[in-house]
Amino acid sequence: MGVSKAGDYESLARQTEPVIATDLPGPKGRAVIDADAEVTSPSLPRAYSFVPDRGAGAVIKDVDGNVFLDFNAGIAVCSTGHAHPAVVDAITDQANKLLHYSASDFYLPIYAEMCARLADIAPMDGQVRAFLTNSGTEAVEAAIKLARHHTGRQYILSFFGSFHGRSYGSVSLTASKANYRADFGPLLPGVLHAPYAGRFDSFVGLDGPGGEPAEPDLDYINDVIFKRLAKPHEVAAVVVEPVLGEGGYVVPPRSWLLKLRNLCDAHGILFVADEVQSGIGRTGRMWAMEHFDLEPDIILAGKGIASGMPLGAMVARSGLMTWSLGTHGSTYGGNPVSCAAGLATLDLVAGGLTANALAVGEFLIEGLKTLAQREPAIQEVRGLGLMIGVELPSPQVADAIEIAAFKRGLLVLRAGDSTIRMAPPLVINKEQAAAGLRLFEDACAEGVAASAGLVAEQSMIRA
Ligand code: PLP
Repeated sequence: MGVSKAGDYESLARQTEPVIATDLPGPKGRAVIDADAEVTSPSLPRAYSFVPDRGAGAVIKDVDGNVFLDFNAGIAVCSTGHAHPAVVDAITDQANKLLHYSASDFYLPIYAEMCARLADIAPMDGQVRAFLTNSGTEAVEAAIKLARHHTGRQYILSFFGSFHGRSYGSVSLTASKANYRADFGPLLPGVLHAPYAGRFDSFVGLDGPGGEPAEPDLDYINDVIFKRLAKPHEVAAVVVEPVLGEGGYVVPPRSWLLKLRNLCDAHGILFVADEVQSGIGRTGRMWAMEHFDLEPDIILAGKGIASGMPLGAMVARSGLMTWSLGTHGSTYGGNPVSCAAGLATLDLVAGGLTANALAVGEFLIEGLKTLAQREPAIQEVRGLGLMIGVELPSPQVADAIEIAAFKRGLLVLRAGDSTIRMAPPLVINKEQAAAGLRLFEDACAEGVAASAGLVAEQSMIRA
């Protein structure tokens, strides 16, 4: 029997309204932040001064007892909500039984069980196999290695605006912000980038009238990359986020992903769907690829797969797993406690949370679109399920709204250049979503006013 305090969990998880009783940060939060500043790596990109202490469902308390609605879910990770009792019990039971044994070197029953579950839910026909990791970036690394190893080709194609992680291979694919790559070069050779569904591509002249992307196509890949940089038969894989995550929560048209799938088929290139952020129910289906009715050759999972325990996965068609004994492994990847959390998470996600994500996601998107009619700063609302982006006129406005939301007890986070992302836990209910909408409307009003003041101040300084 686990130690989750079900009564405690229920009363916090049911709350619909934030309670902010101190300045933010409060005195205890301030002490943590000051101590942290002395000892942690200055590279950590802290967004604002939130110091979490205890969570339940879509609600989270900070160390000063302030109560927040969490539309971040630990950055799209806590899929089943904070401290879901079924997940906590699964973790506790497994921890009491066996904390670790390396599945790379021995046979761990729960590792194979997790791989079998992933094979069941993988959006591909035919037999698949899985390799488990500790994180999203390691799943990306595994895909890069497998694609090169299996095809014997060197080039990997990814997209401007995409985020695939921060280790050397994955950061070489990442092209959402130059900061992730700055001064770390040379990065992995053989990585080429193309425009993502007509975005970030004004330099190749694909913009439609009014600056909107025209029907996105693959001209850049065909006319620039294949003609001038690399022959298609040298390309091992295309790695793509079926919904752009950190790059701004962009949903591409199906036609673009279909063209990409066809391009891969035409040249024997592997289609790798990086669903580290969009997978495991986040978009209202188990995988975002299901919305587009397209099959990848390799699919990557992380973040929400184990509700916050470190776990990632690379799932590939069996025929691709031609790498031999000892060519890849990991001491901790597929750790038994993470697998226990993963299995409990998949039970919950498949057992109703995707449906909830779809229903509450539609409610939120509709509410935000209605708000956009009253609030001119909102330029676009887009998303699938509970992966929702609100486009604002500038990074300054987005940041000011993010902070104004925080002060009101609503946690959201900027993505891309000027998008606020909303990625609440998949357990969020409509009352909490409605409260979030109301708080976001107030935050927009304050954020727009505050950033107008900032711009005026800056132009006075420049003058
Ligand atoms: N791929 C995508 C699409 C992501 O969003 C992320 C993280 O945000 C990663 C890979 C890297 O995952 P991790 O931070 O677990 O290494």
